[in-house]
Amino acid sequence: IPGGVNSPARSWGAVGGNPLFLTRGSGSRVWDADGNEYIDYVCSWGPLILGHANESVVAAITQAAADGTSFGAPTERENEIAQLVVDAYESIEMVRFVNSGTEATMSALRLARAYTGRSKIVKFEGGYHGHSDALLVAAGSGALAHGVPDSAGVTASFAQDTLLGVFNDPASVEAHFDAFPEDIACVIVEPVAGNMGVVPPHDRFLQGLRDLTEKHNSLLIFDEVITGFRVEYGGAQQRYGINADITCLGKIIGGGMPVGAYGSSAEIMATVAPLGAMYQAGTLSGNPVAMAAGIATLEQLQEPGVYNALGAKAASLAAGLQEVFAEAEIPLRINRVSSMMTLFFNAGEVNSWETVLASDREGFGRFFHRMLEEGVYLPPSPFEAMFVSTAHSDAI
Ligand code: PMP
Repeated sequence: IPGGVNSPARSWGAVGGNPLFLTRGSGSRVWDADGNEYIDYVCSWGPLILGHANESVVAAITQAAADGTSFGAPTERENEIAQLVVDAYESIEMVRFVNSGTEATMSALRLARAYTGRSKIVKFEGGYHGHSDALLVAAGSGALAHGVPDSAGVTASFAQDTLLGVFNDPASVEAHFDAFPEDIACVIVEPVAGNMGVVPPHDRFLQGLRDLTEKHNSLLIFDEVITGFRVEYGGAQQRYGINADITCLGKIIGGGMPVGAYGSSAEIMATVAPLGAMYQAGTLSGNPVAMAAGIATLEQLQEPGVYNALGAKAASLAAGLQEVFAEAEIPLRINRVSSMMTLFFNAGEVNSWETVLASDREGFGRFFHRMLEEGVYLPPSPFEAMFVSTAHSDAI
């Protein structure tokens, strides 16, 4: 396994040292192979909003597995969860399930291009949308130049149709529409940035993108792989009252199993095969075990007060941390939207990719390792979101 990990963010490259090998999780806790117990604020990078091994989720998975793990044919469970997604999002009338967030965003781009007949896309520097070629441009790294691939193996011809905007700056997107008024298929954005650390959208940012895309007959894609069912039941679209044209989902809708999804209006989704000419497929897509985990998760998230309680819990954690840092006279900026937040070692406001990069990374690395010694497992990077689950308590 390259680097000993199946996804590079697990490698602790940003904080130094060797990753924990985890053997077990229960509620808010995880245990490593040496038997150490930690409070877990990674929560599998977002999916585990109910914590580890939630009883109903495990029961649903067990039942689904006993019923047969995969058929490659339509099943009731995938229709049940499709209905839950359609009910949660005003902008979604049809949804297609895939196996990861990467597949969801990759397919959403293809759909936007197929529907509009245009080739260019706009993404934001510091925005991560999975590892498909067109989206691996300024994906959370320092490459600020226009259309320069972030990864070896992504050719310039793939990257040249990817235009870069500046998060929280609608004028940067307007400039692209001025330059290419008829060529931009879509603007794809994390409505709350999560992959440069949590950066909430300015008041006018999302509305600005909505207005610009409408004006130019382009599509607005919200990548809600993190924010979907996280910042509200109906994601960022419910929280900020703005509807996207295409929504990408993942993480929470799979309840800890591998899932992604993309959804839109019935008209736009009619472009997708077998209804339309845009091809997209998957042997294990809509997998019954994954669908069962997702259904059991969403059902629990429908209970009244869940999101208020989650937000309050995260707020009290943030307030406590802020107090401790103030006492120690260490500058700390906490950006939080509901139960996702990032501790930036930064004296100033963090509201853009540029201000994110002004944070003290080494300081964070030291803090990460000291917290680990105290039995708290944080995301091993200064620019990732930490997540609070319903299983976390006020106990230390
Ligand atoms: N979009 C966003 C906003 C993400 O945070 C991620 C993964 N962290 C992805 C897409 C890709 O999802 P996956 O890792 O499931 O391919």
